[in-house]
Amino acid sequence: RRDEAAAAGIDLADLYSADWKKMAALILSPGVPLTHPEPHWVVRMARAEACEVIGDVELFAREKLPNQIAAITGTNGKSTTTALTGHVLESCGRPVATGGNLGTPVLELPRLPDGGVYVIEMSSYQIDLTPSLDPAVLLNLSPDHIDRHGDMAGYIGVKSGMLERQSADKTAIVGMDDKDSVGIFDKLNSTGRKNIVPVSVTTPPNERARQQGYVVEDGVISSQLDGKSEALVDLFGAANLIGVHNWQNAAMALASATALGCPVYDAAASLLSFPGLAHRMEYVGRIGNIRFINDSKATNAEATSRALACFDRIIWIAGGRPKEGGIEALRPEFHRIAYAYLIGEAAGDFAQTLEGEVPFTIAETLDEAVALAAERATEEAACLGGDAMPDTAVLLSPAAASFDQFANFELRGNRFRDLVAGLSLLHRDEIAVGGRV
Ligand code: ADP
Repeated sequence: RRDEAAAAGIDLADLYSADWKKMAALILSPGVPLTHPEPHWVVRMARAEACEVIGDVELFAREKLPNQIAAITGTNGKSTTTALTGHVLESCGRPVATGGNLGTPVLELPRLPDGGVYVIEMSSYQIDLTPSLDPAVLLNLSPDHIDRHGDMAGYIGVKSGMLERQSADKTAIVGMDDKDSVGIFDKLNSTGRKNIVPVSVTTPPNERARQQGYVVEDGVISSQLDGKSEALVDLFGAANLIGVHNWQNAAMALASATALGCPVYDAAASLLSFPGLAHRMEYVGRIGNIRFINDSKATNAEATSRALACFDRIIWIAGGRPKEGGIEALRPEFHRIAYAYLIGEAAGDFAQTLEGEVPFTIAETLDEAVALAAERATEEAACLGGDAMPDTAVLLSPAAASFDQFANFELRGNRFRDLVAGLSLLHRDEIAVGGRV
């Protein structure tokens, strides 16, 4: 890096001996500890000389480009909601660039014409370093990264700070399905701010969202104005927004695109054509009514539990390099699993946990597992066809790392997609280039 910088004509200094009084700011990578477990020495040196410490997104925001910024944060769903918000804005004809924590770093995003929107995923680390930011979306909060923020109160403080700092003419969108996010909403609301949009996907929905926001009930997003409800879109038609957690992401993206000026009906309709993020509950084809889903990103039991909860009946492909705890935590979802094909190093452990509860075959490799699962799906589609058939999926959600058989989860997911694409009985009608709808 030093050589690259020098070659680009940038002055290099040793930060131990640098004159901090001459520096306008320290631009810190979000990976470098700002506060916890303790400030990095470089942060302490900068602060001792009253040198401001900020991050790349702050630098970007200070450019004062003639564009809006939608900053998206939360514990889970940030990448999906960022990509989805970008998709909705683009579908409504707005120039868009997405990036930040997801994909392209903000400083490498292209310049947009007037009226364009930067949709930026923000980790809590980045918020710490970004004191001035515009419209903000807070999806949800649950214990995560506590080590970086000291405790849950510190973590909540960082997320709520982002919304509190917004200028009053900007809109904040808040998921209302966990108590900490509701706490943040209430705090903002108590300051008299008008433009806070509550969103809820629980049953029954959060009461504030039901009065003045967006709710999702049984897959249908509706807007609520003074308690009057208007249905906007049925997410069961969105092939790549499977599961209640994705309904939350969809409703948040719709609320933010609308707040940024998109016509609500166009924005709602565009949710249906979201191509999805690869390897996260990605629809890759079907045999009859049985869908094949690539959830290779699920490298631990927690992520896989969300995937299992999305279907009534599952032909499950799991395994890889085991993580601590194995699949014990998935026991409550076992009733959904009709059959399991186990692969990789974890196969033996997983088999022990499933023994007596879920029928399984140790298939060893992904290739073998897909071939066997497809055979089963073909038989079942023939026997169980028709409307009475329960919602069934062949689901690759490994609950284990990929490293025993693949270099990373992307390559594992790509292999699954390719294998499915090669199945002779696959319905190809909805599959576009790259295997996505
Ligand atoms: P992040 O960028 O916050 O890590 P992603 O959009 O990459 O989130 O999704 C990662 C995983 O988190 C998904 O595979 C899914 O299991 C889970 N997830 C996605 N959205 C939500 C949500 N709104 N609430 C809870 N879990 C979610």
